Amino acid sequence: MIGLGPGDRVLVHSSLRAVGLDADELIDELLAAVGPRGLVVMPTFTYDNETFTPDTPSRTGALTDVFRRRPEALRSLHPTYSVAAIGSGAAELLEGHERVAATDVESPLGRLAASGGLVLLLGVGHTSNTTVHVGEFEADAPYLEIPFDPAWPTHGYDRFPGCSRAFGFLERPLRERGAIRDGNVGRALAQLVPCRVVVEETVALLRADRTALLCTDRACYRCSYARERLS
Ligand SMILES: [Zn+2]
Repeated sequence: MIGLGPGDRVLVHSSLRAVGLDADELIDELLAAVGPRGLVVMPTFTYDNETFTPDTPSRTGALTDVFRRRPEALRSLHPTYSVAAIGSGAAELLEGHERVAATDVESPLGRLAASGGLVLLLGVGHTSNTTVHVGEFEADAPYLEIPFDPAWPTHGYDRFPGCSRAFGFLERPLRERGAIRDGNVGRALAQLVPCRVVVEETVALLRADRTALLCTDRACYRCSYARERLS
């Protein structure tokens, strides 16, 4: 499937409707592609929930909610940005997520980037590419302590991933670097890209312009506040 091979560690962002396959069928295909030495990871974010349990439904798409309920799936315990994983090294990847900021370099997605992981975008664009947030943390972007929405519970954390509406900007530098492998999965366009390159290009973009990944929607609390402060 789109260049995935045995032993690959892949984070999947998806629109099941765009792919047009049955959720379990797609999960089986992903697991078969990476084999028993590989790892499949999916976001199971719950965003503004007050109380998280491992059974709190995922709000990052139908595929992810079927995935996290697989008997062999493990799920991290971050109260708002948990991720689920099946395969080799799943427990090590997810361990301690609740003790760090959601997309910190020490979070599961940060660890995945540091260990040769890949991002697979299935019928979605880079606005769904959460690894860009890891790049914001690695770059220590000057707005991480501004919550996405001041009404959301902070659960005691002091840095947060925020708005991703401007993350489409990453696609151009990633393409210029030749880092994106394009393909089709079911009916959907798909992109496969190394997590580490996503982080590196995000850091480079923010070094050139620390407002580069803020959206321009005046109704967006995080981006408006950050722009005001940085201008
Ligand atoms: Zn925004």
